[in-house]
Amino acid sequence: MKKVVVIGGGYGGLRAIEALHKYRDIEITLIDKNPYHYLQTEAYGYIAGQFDVHQVAIDLKNWCDGFKERVTFLHKEATSISFEEKSVQAEDETLSYDYLILATGARTHFFSFIEGLREHSYGVKDLQRAYKFRVEFEKLIYKTLREEEACKEGPLNIAIGGAGLSGVEVAAEMAYVLESYSKTIGDTAKEIQIYLIDASETILPGMGRYSIEKTKRRLESLGVRILTGTFISALDASHICFKNGEKLPYSFMIFTGGIQAAALNDTIENEKNRIGQLVPSTELNIHGRKEVFAIGDCVEIKDREGRVLPPTAQIAEKSAEYVAKTIRQRIDGVESRPFDASVSGVFIALGGTYAVGEMFRYIKVKGYVAYLLKKAITHAYYLGLRLRINTGFKNRNR
Ligand SMILES: Cc1cc2nc3c(=O)[nH]c(=O)nc-3n(C[C@H](O)[C@H](O)[C@H](O)COP(=O)(O)OP(=O)(O)OC[C@H]3O[C@@H](n4cnc5c(N)ncnc54)[C@H](O)[C@@H]3O)c2cc1C
Repeated sequence: MKKVVVIGGGYGGLRAIEALHKYRDIEITLIDKNPYHYLQTEAYGYIAGQFDVHQVAIDLKNWCDGFKERVTFLHKEATSISFEEKSVQAEDETLSYDYLILATGARTHFFSFIEGLREHSYGVKDLQRAYKFRVEFEKLIYKTLREEEACKEGPLNIAIGGAGLSGVEVAAEMAYVLESYSKTIGDTAKEIQIYLIDASETILPGMGRYSIEKTKRRLESLGVRILTGTFISALDASHICFKNGEKLPYSFMIFTGGIQAAALNDTIENEKNRIGQLVPSTELNIHGRKEVFAIGDCVEIKDREGRVLPPTAQIAEKSAEYVAKTIRQRIDGVESRPFDASVSGVFIALGGTYAVGEMFRYIKVKGYVAYLLKKAITHAYYLGLRLRINTGFKNRNR
């Protein structure tokens, strides 16, 4: 029996386990500091009150039990790795491995040059924060409903720092909710203003022109105020200060402007990039070890032309599938090929039943069709998780 330890039950970790569990000569342990898998890609809908918690959190114990005793779950934080002894320290427990997969993801990066950013804003890369924003958003809506002159109690501006994929999705969904609510609870909901702020000259920096233009148009039609080329210099409890000297009063700020690799990377000696991601070999090995792999957001992944790919769930899953196959090949003594990463397409949810997407470079879609395609991808992913947890739940309660 070969022991595979996977650190991190995110998109990459779970996909690696799905691909590895079919081999009868492999036993797998999943370690995660949280008891659940958080579907970050659905955070926008959760914050805006469109999805409930069961649609963004999946119990990892039930999920692992879905593999009928072939996968063990350890709810602990991995604190260090001994590459020489081939073991992982997870709080008070030591686990030995034959193969190790690091899939610890990334966290929000609060730039130190923006004074007060860390103290007065939060990211959406963990469920507790997303929940906090959901509550804040609901509170603001309630406030406009209750107060005739809601502004008297403070600003009704929501700021989103960072106009990348996650920023635009969160902005669009909240704006869509406010627009829909104005039909039911009245126009006061429209008093809440959403500001999408980015230092780049454009929203969705690095993405295709089609996605950028269609997304911009959609955000504007939803009433989102887009401030591109705008530098935030400081934040206090009530105001955002811009480099040009202007100030914006705000109620709360969601920061999606940058990420850095998970903290476990800090304990690992390996080449890293400026956001702390591990720079791996072409076969996704780190620390010069053929039995240690890193996948997903915690590692820098390049495409065939050597361009660094933006961290996405899609790349986390592709790298996971590659590593599972490579582990099989290593056990069998078969040569493996380098990882060949490519992005198949990106779909952006833009409020309600509207989305924009680009696939395989040439296919471009918007509106309801794009929404249906995005939903189909999400639904297939969610269904796979549900089938596992249903089996796990049944096994446990037999
Ligand atoms: C709002 C939002 C929208 C997004 N939309 C899209 C989208 O539409 N399409 C897309 O492809 N991507 C999207 N992404 C990006 C995508 O969510 C990430 O790229 C993806 O989650 C990366 O997967 P991962 O497995 O590397 O890490 P994660 O999914 O972040 O999982 C990492 C796991 O490791 C665990 N962990 C970390 N450190 C430790 C430790 N020391 N010990 C134990 N466990 C640990 C964490 O608890 C977590 O469960 C979006 C992200 C956000 C925030």
